Amino acid sequence: MNTPIQFGERLFLPVLMAPYARRNDDPLHRRLWVYVLDPASSGSKRLTQCIEVPYEPLGKAGIHGAVFAVDHSPLPPFLLDHLDWPERLIEDFNQHPLHLDEPRLAMAGGIEPCTGKPLFAGQMAYAICQRVYDTFAAALGRFPTWGPWVSRRIRHSQSPALTIRPFAFEGANAYYDPSKGSLEFGVFNAALNDSTSVLPGGMVITCLSHDIIAHEVTHALLDGMRAHFRLNTHPDVPALHEGFADLVALFHHFQYPDLVEQAIEDHGGLNSDMLLELGKEFGTALGNKEGDCLRRAMDNVALPGQQAAPEICNYEDPALTEPHVRGSVLVAAVFAAYLQVYERRAGELLRLANVTAGGESRKILPSQLVSLLAREAAAVADEFLQACIRAIDYCPPLDVRFGDYLRAIITADRMLNPQDSSGMRDALIREFRRRKVDLGRVRDLSEYSLEWNSPSTVDRPAVPGLAWSDLRFRNDGRTPQSIAEIERQAQALGEFLIDKVHSGELKGEFGVTRAGGDYGPITIESLRTAARRGRDGRLLNGIIAETSQTRTTPDGVVRGGSTLVLTEEGRVDFAIRKRVDDEQRLLDLRHQLADTGGLTDVSFRELHSHRR
Ligand SMILES: [Zn+2]
Repeated sequence: MNTPIQFGERLFLPVLMAPYARRNDDPLHRRLWVYVLDPASSGSKRLTQCIEVPYEPLGKAGIHGAVFAVDHSPLPPFLLDHLDWPERLIEDFNQHPLHLDEPRLAMAGGIEPCTGKPLFAGQMAYAICQRVYDTFAAALGRFPTWGPWVSRRIRHSQSPALTIRPFAFEGANAYYDPSKGSLEFGVFNAALNDSTSVLPGGMVITCLSHDIIAHEVTHALLDGMRAHFRLNTHPDVPALHEGFADLVALFHHFQYPDLVEQAIEDHGGLNSDMLLELGKEFGTALGNKEGDCLRRAMDNVALPGQQAAPEICNYEDPALTEPHVRGSVLVAAVFAAYLQVYERRAGELLRLANVTAGGESRKILPSQLVSLLAREAAAVADEFLQACIRAIDYCPPLDVRFGDYLRAIITADRMLNPQDSSGMRDALIREFRRRKVDLGRVRDLSEYSLEWNSPSTVDRPAVPGLAWSDLRFRNDGRTPQSIAEIERQAQALGEFLIDKVHSGELKGEFGVTRAGGDYGPITIESLRTAARRGRDGRLLNGIIAETSQTRTTPDGVVRGGSTLVLTEEGRVDFAIRKRVDDEQRLLDLRHQLADTGGLTDVSFRELHSHRR
């Protein structure tokens, strides 16, 4: 007989891992040099930048932060072959890990960017990863946690920090490894094609690519947010992982004002390959044609050097099976909406400055106007990025389709920013539809219709004991006080669900059903408090909880569940579900189950491997 409730292995992580708690006499930031464009990107005067990350002590023996740590193993033979160092240098590297707290190095922003200094790769990866982590923390209103590998590390008294391995293997690949809790970056020889930006046969270090680092750490962050997001139930699932990671990497381009200003100076707008292309060096080094990149943000904008705009992507195209290609539909829809909102807001500035939009006049913009436009581009990019990240909290806990993701963005943004003065939501809806993304059964394309509409009661049901005033926090005001406190909260939620399931009230709306027979126990996978801030400063407190349940079928085990969004009063505002007892879902999954004998998780190592 099954126990009716069980707790998932990531439930207690908010208490077990946290970023460094700043002391009053600590500096606010640490400055670190990075490449903001791939080292081989040609035509940019602003390849490198010194960026700020929150200060934390890193120790003397390499980079050991609270959330990220850089591996300092001896350099592997394939890299030593490339570097051709004398024995003295190799020994020096092995004995002297990077000491960023050393005063002179701290003042200089660490090591200056260089492709021939292996220590720099770790510094850069640490800085970019920390940046992306901070973006997630701001969007979610809480500190992100890692996957269940953290619990195993803590049990063995090891660091809960995600390990960055800058020279993990020889090969044209980089990936997040959820079994080890590491980002593994490859090193490889560029193809022998003639190229002016990448040396034929030269060494390509994937850990020196801003975009690859940002993409990989996003996989790790997303894996930390949800227990069953990687369950490969539909082609949209791996594609969402890829598209989402690309969106995060691309929107971070706009955090570097120098880069955005250069794009506006050169092209009068944002249609610059520096901003809208990903992984330029990697793409060229794979042997694609000169100047090629891994992926592009846009499907309907001609970039400099292109004769005509490519055709718009179509979600219904049966050829869109490869996850990165399918993911690019999502990326293109979001970026088309972004550019529309930017153009509208930039148009106001241009009119104010009495500059006609388009044409030659844009090429001689005064520098103050360029700075203002760049600031606007960054502000709009930040709004979009925050909305895209926050939407994960409003997605079903598994089996997420692109249409679900759009509805999650709309719902999350409407809750936090009731006024959409910039027209972001309207632009997103139209661009998703232009690409024929399936939105499921909705009445019309209004925001109101796309917002999730469950539970279907006028009065939202309240979960006893989960009002914000019932919760106990640590001094930081957002981390639960203890494991016992999280257990109390999860128990309260579990009892609420069992009560609803057994009474038949709101049948099926929570995605789970009575345990027993083919159905496993209802699992509380995670329960996280969130204090989010909207664009107008409005604060929204609440709880995001994730439940799941297994069902044994003759073809294999399937899963359902729901993401529950609770208000500050502890009421269930949304129950975003994939029902475990939905017979149609089971029929849809049958082919996949028959092929594989059971559902498996998406593997990033396989997804990212590139063959020339
Ligand atoms: Zn990926």
